[in-house]
Amino acid sequence: MRIRIDDIKDEGLTLDFAEDATAFPELAEVSAAGDCEFPAPVKTRLRAFQVRGMVEVEGQVETTLRQSCGRCLEEYEETLSASFALTYTRELPEVEEDSGDEVEISAEEMGLILFEGEEIDLREAVQEQVIMALPLQPLCGPECKGLCPQCGANLNESECGCGPPDFSIKFAALKGFKVDKEKNK
Ligand SMILES: [Zn+2]
Ligand SMILES: [Zn+2]
Repeated sequence: MRIRIDDIKDEGLTLDFAEDATAFPELAEVSAAGDCEFPAPVKTRLRAFQVRGMVEVEGQVETTLRQSCGRCLEEYEETLSASFALTYTRELPEVEEDSGDEVEISAEEMGLILFEGEEIDLREAVQEQVIMALPLQPLCGPECKGLCPQCGANLNESECGCGPPDFSIKFAALKGFKVDKEKNK
């Protein structure tokens, strides 16, 4: 997953990659932990340009995630996709304050990524896009009804007949509380 700087012509360079998730150390780790799987390759399409000695990379990454729904616990698959724009540079530009003093600003603070030599390795950047696209709360769908708190049935598949939880006991208790308060007056 490398861009050769010499291959970037004036009109830019378009590249496509498709690699198994196991080729990305952190994705391999996440799936080895058993929380989720990546059944499809990680596909990356990007364009690279040289701009004032820096390399601009615009891309899109897409893969498939399989994991268990946090509500109904069924396994489901969803497509993950993310767009990204990154700027790579061999050396940081010098920054002067208004006073004319030079200031030290890190690559990260400038939104730049440092690289050396004649190639840019994109593996880590692409991996980071996938990690950031992982859902915090996995849901098989926005309409997922989850499991019945009483019998554990999957309410997406059938009505279990338990009906809504019985609040009447709580209401009765509240009424009783009010009565007691009035008595104390
Ligand atoms: Zn669900
Ligand atoms: Zn039930």
